[in-house]
Amino acid sequence: MMKPDIAIVGGGLLGRLLAWRAVLSGLRVVLFDANDRLGNEATAWVAGGMVTPQAEAVDAEPELVAMGRRSLQLWPGWLRQLPSPVHYSDSGTLLVWQRTDAAEARRFETVLRTRDPHARYEHLNAEQLAGKEPALGTRFREGLYLPGEAHIDNRQLLPALADALEALGVECHWNRRVEDSERPEASLVIDCRGKNAKSRWKELRGVRGELVRLHAPDVELRHMIRLLHPRYQLYLISRPGGNVVVGATSIETDDCSPVSVRGALELLSAAYAVLPELAEARILELDCDCRPALPDNRPGVRYSPNARLLEVNGLYRHGFLLSPAVVEEVLTILPELLRSPASGLSESPRWPLLGARAEVLACR
Ligand SMILES: Cc1cc2nc3c(=O)[nH]c(=O)nc-3n(C[C@H](O)[C@H](O)[C@H](O)COP(=O)(O)OP(=O)(O)OC[C@H]3O[C@@H](n4cnc5c(N)ncnc54)[C@H](O)[C@@H]3O)c2cc1C
Repeated sequence: MMKPDIAIVGGGLLGRLLAWRAVLSGLRVVLFDANDRLGNEATAWVAGGMVTPQAEAVDAEPELVAMGRRSLQLWPGWLRQLPSPVHYSDSGTLLVWQRTDAAEARRFETVLRTRDPHARYEHLNAEQLAGKEPALGTRFREGLYLPGEAHIDNRQLLPALADALEALGVECHWNRRVEDSERPEASLVIDCRGKNAKSRWKELRGVRGELVRLHAPDVELRHMIRLLHPRYQLYLISRPGGNVVVGATSIETDDCSPVSVRGALELLSAAYAVLPELAEARILELDCDCRPALPDNRPGVRYSPNARLLEVNGLYRHGFLLSPAVVEEVLTILPELLRSPASGLSESPRWPLLGARAEVLACR
């Protein structure tokens, strides 16, 4: 094989997606991942797979909300191009809250309107809520409906991307860890190792998240449900096969050890309070992982001309929300980086969204 244009190290969510779109754009790509083609060691394997720019607007700056909106446009077409089916639903999010947390809901609405000029939402009273999501009954007096928000089955997506890469003849080196001291043969190396890139990108930190996967064939959820709460922001997502994913936590720590008793109790009691019908659901898995985050919780891109190394990281809790938009932007600068390696990313006018975070490391 001719020398590849790019070698991608880390084939989780971002690495696989970038490799696939780069090949489709005509580049020669080789991919290395420390684990197998299923992707079950990637943070993306644990994730909820939500693409919810409006629901995230309270914690994310307007640029990120705009990137999330772009991803919402890109995902359906990209998923249709994959050789294997990946469940995708854009039936929207239902936000609900307890009566005592009405102030939190008003705050959410104000911030949403400020951060997202395109925000679309509907107020629902108890009856309308029950009509839209019968599983909730009339348990909540009011709610907000955020139409168009989506979720992707992450566990179908990762192997489907592996199928796509292999079908296109990409050299995929599964179960091949690349050490910091190694440099795969390619014109440009792209580091997409997520939380494991900390050895090279010191500012990366972990933000722990815990999830429970339930088998609840009798509970039908038509939408993603989010509980607005000042401390505990629960979400419930249905998955094919009668499964429901329940998540909530965001803890500032690099500790990715298994879910604690307290974590499990809090998660399950909150889920049970929102949907008592889950009482007889079966617990399939309790999962935990650390999201890769940079100090400002925005994605970052760094380029080291000497090492011919591009690093893309910091997807934080927004990997599914942002990765198509991030990939699209990275692809716009790859041709120039391959043509003239010394070019400066930060001066490039073609970084409308990531611009502020793009950085050139001249001396590495
Ligand atoms: C509980 C939880 C819920 C989440 N829910 C959502 C959600 O609903 N929506 C959303 O948008 N985001 C969500 N996220 C965040 C999302 O999962 C991450 O942002 C995303 O997975 C980061 O993607 P990545 O490709 O950077 O890292 P990863 O997906 O972790 O991929 C990194 C890859 O690098 C490989 N690797 C590591 N070291 C090496 C090495 N030395 N050599 C070769 N390969 C290596 C790993 O094997 C792995 O495959 C959630 C995260 C958690 C923990």
